[in-house]
Amino acid sequence: MQQLIERFLGYVTVDTQSDPNSDTTPSTEKQWNLATELAYELERIGLKDVTIDDNAYIMATLPSNMDKPTPTIGFISHFDTTPDFSSTDIKPQIIRNYDGKDIVLNAQENIILSPDYFEDLLLYKGQTLITTDGTTLLGADDKAGIAEIVTAMEFIIQHPEIKHGEVKVAFTPDEEIGRGAHKFDVVKFGADWAYTVDGSQVGELEYENFNAAGAKVVIKGKSVHPGYAKGKMVNAISIANEFIAILPPEETPQCTSGRQGFFHVHHFQGEIEHAEFELIIRDHDKSHFEKRKDLLRKIAKKLNNDHNNCIELIITDQYYNMRGKIEPAFHIVEIAKEAMETIGITPIIKPIRGGTDGSQLSFMGLPCPNIFAGGHNFHGKYEYVPVESMQKAVEVIVKICEITAGQV
Ligand SMILES: [Zn+2]
Repeated sequence: MQQLIERFLGYVTVDTQSDPNSDTTPSTEKQWNLATELAYELERIGLKDVTIDDNAYIMATLPSNMDKPTPTIGFISHFDTTPDFSSTDIKPQIIRNYDGKDIVLNAQENIILSPDYFEDLLLYKGQTLITTDGTTLLGADDKAGIAEIVTAMEFIIQHPEIKHGEVKVAFTPDEEIGRGAHKFDVVKFGADWAYTVDGSQVGELEYENFNAAGAKVVIKGKSVHPGYAKGKMVNAISIANEFIAILPPEETPQCTSGRQGFFHVHHFQGEIEHAEFELIIRDHDKSHFEKRKDLLRKIAKKLNNDHNNCIELIITDQYYNMRGKIEPAFHIVEIAKEAMETIGITPIIKPIRGGTDGSQLSFMGLPCPNIFAGGHNFHGKYEYVPVESMQKAVEVIVKICEITAGQV
């Protein structure tokens, strides 16, 4: 346990925040600081063929110790942290034998991590929690995943009696800005399938995510003195409002859950002459997803008829539900499920209301469900991870390797 804690603390105290406004990969120079260290560490624990490419993608191999062919599987995590919250000067705190009460993260600023608000805390009474000091995020997303994969590989290397096939490991930059998979060399990686270790609570196992598109609506208006505007003025703001008002009001993020899709207008700016807004479209179901995009096109067409072709609509697909790519190889979910059940974890299988790198990788030819890494409250100062959950993730990774080898 102590080693897992130290390994994790070593990672989170290196600032690796990514930046959506940068065009380079990695998006920030500082991600190299941890990437280089990680590559050394993978060599040190005894993995083979450790490589780090020009874009800071790290790959390594644990050779098979079986005398017959087995599937090659992979485990993937990302080392960047979200640009949404500070990751400078992270000072983790360790709470041993958590008593189920409020945790004072920062006495000076009165920042409290309380089970009254974050009920999940009560699941971890008696356990060891790692929290922030209330001024930064923690980075358990996804350095917990990295610590778990490295620890599992080290454990397997130190226990040659554990039979396993070839296992691949990859750590990527820039997941938090949606680019973790972009420059991932699936062919070089060479796995038949893989698991991202990037989920939250113990037991999470995910192979379904949203189909996603973004849309931009641009409206050209005509400004005329309001006193003389009759029949002449075209108010771009009013037309934008008209467009938004036709969208079903109950199909928004704040009114939906589970498998319900939505439209989400997240940006608006307007004057009489020019208005534009952006929205995202999300739906697990492919045909509903297409219908949602159709609805936007129909609204644009109708309003273009009414208002003399003043609307331009641009729809861009972003990512798709990986379920279609996972289901033909469903044993890869079954193996993860069995691994969890064998060590007494009840799998929590639910559709992700978002995307993962695994969904992009699945469409790039590497089927890639997501399993838990153990942390909670990602992307903010209340982020925490129970060390016992990290230990369970290590056990699950080892078990997945064993079960895969045993199935041949
Ligand atoms: Zn993550």
